[in-house]
Amino acid sequence: MVLRIALVSEHASPLAAIGAVDAGGQNVHVAELASGLTRLGHEVVVYTRRDDPGLPATVRTDDAYDVVHLDAGPAQVLPKDDLWPLMPAFATALRTHLEVLRPDVVHAHFWMSGWAATRAARGLGIATFVTFHALGSVKRRHQGAADTSPADRLDVELTVARRATGVVATCRDEVAELAAMGVDLDRVDVVPCGVDVRHFTTGAAPLDHPPRRQPHRIVSVGRLVPRKGYATIVEALVDLPGVELVIAGGHATDGVEVERLRLEALAAELGVADRVQFAGQVGHFLMPALLCTADVVVCSPWYEPFGLVPLEAMACGVPVVASAVGGMLDSVADGETGLLVPPQDPAALAAALGGLLADPQRRAAYGRAGVVRARSLYSWDVVAAATAEVYDRAVAALGSAPAATLGAGRLPVLGPA
Ligand code: UDP
Repeated sequence: MVLRIALVSEHASPLAAIGAVDAGGQNVHVAELASGLTRLGHEVVVYTRRDDPGLPATVRTDDAYDVVHLDAGPAQVLPKDDLWPLMPAFATALRTHLEVLRPDVVHAHFWMSGWAATRAARGLGIATFVTFHALGSVKRRHQGAADTSPADRLDVELTVARRATGVVATCRDEVAELAAMGVDLDRVDVVPCGVDVRHFTTGAAPLDHPPRRQPHRIVSVGRLVPRKGYATIVEALVDLPGVELVIAGGHATDGVEVERLRLEALAAELGVADRVQFAGQVGHFLMPALLCTADVVVCSPWYEPFGLVPLEAMACGVPVVASAVGGMLDSVADGETGLLVPPQDPAALAAALGGLLADPQRRAAYGRAGVVRARSLYSWDVVAAATAEVYDRAVAALGSAPAATLGAGRLPVLGPA
């Protein structure tokens, strides 16, 4: 059945530059899910907050879905933790659109969008889903006093999980977390994140920047924030002579990158500074070319709700050494496509990497198995189809005819709400 689908992603626009401090996996996820659902024939609109006055009200993407910019607060980029007070205005603007669009499904991404979407869709007979991407309880556990999330995040997440038609979790670890929060698991489906297997392939011409200086190279990719655990890799380098580390990710514009300075100081203190290179923010289209330069891709976060980079590395045929946390417990097949190690344990990481770097045959076998695993389980076509199945069931249970089959095939184009 053809559905009309509204995706809501308050801070993570599918049009944003990826790799800056608040732009990462969620932006990629929303963009790819929107594209995948559109390829399946569904009509998709993504709602996000206007963070630049120059953005048009609606952008038709090359992938044939629309992005609508809703006015809520100043039209400038704000830290995502500052957006919570703006959510009533965001929900009001969204409501205006939903009343006209009348989608079959609203699928919110992140807790604030979940709150806005369940509020905006109230009484409209629309199936509402939420994917949290990250749970406040996990963040608080790991970051403690450094967690800058609004104080009521945990309560709001539980309310949203209960108010929505269903929760689309991305991995088994998240399901356990939701159960501990008191969410009824009958209303939880698991659909993983995906990878663009047309873009992430074994055939990418390797990027020649930064140039290789050591016999072995490991690459780590993500936003430059402490919880991504780059420090653990820098510490492991001490026990890995002849190995260089390339870190990709960072801020789009900021002159000073606090985390980079911290890592550089650590590397200097440990005497490995000459083996650590920062590639800065790498355009997403160049990511396969960077990953293909690696003997091993390392993902060593303290915690990770899902983690797209392991999927991207596997799709490129590169073995992965990852922390045994979150979504990577599902995505990385330990001893088959890579190795799982305890988080924040430089000795364990060095041992896993040392063994793998010394064994080119095992690396090649893991790489081959990774390609098969990524393509068969995690292509966005597979993920979009699984997501659409969840929607289908909910729409059928609501018993109404799908909106996309009722009226005009085209979505109404609205100006700013
Ligand atoms: N990424 C990128 N360029 C960078 C850094 C990251 O394109 O310089 C992409 C990376 O390829 C991946 C996403 O950003 O698709 C990061 O997603 P992940 O789930 O690993 O981490 P998150 O940022 O969501 O915590």
